[in-house]
Amino acid sequence: MAKKAPAKNAVSATSTTEMYTTGTFSPIIEKCDGCERAIEVEATKYCRTYVNPEAKWRLGICNFATHVKPEITVAKIRVNPLKASKRASAKKK
Ligand code: SF4
Repeated sequence: MAKKAPAKNAVSATSTTEMYTTGTFSPIIEKCDGCERAIEVEATKYCRTYVNPEAKWRLGICNFATHVKPEITVAKIRVNPLKASKRASAKKK
């Protein structure tokens, strides 16, 4: 009788725990609180996406964060009404 091979995508809970607790992954930082990518292993939270979450926040917002969105500031352009009028009349000619 042939032995059934384990599924390729099956990751046991033990190997997941080992993956995070061997020291390769750094725990998440305060700014990561609330992110859906954070996973709790043995009472410590780790990021499923990044090995060193602190580095992702060094230059601003983590680009994979699910709990914060970057603020987009729209700069208003001031238009001089006199110049706008001149431009409009020049186009008519
Ligand atoms: S994806 Fe970014 S914000 Fe979310 S836990 Fe990982 S490092 Fe933190």
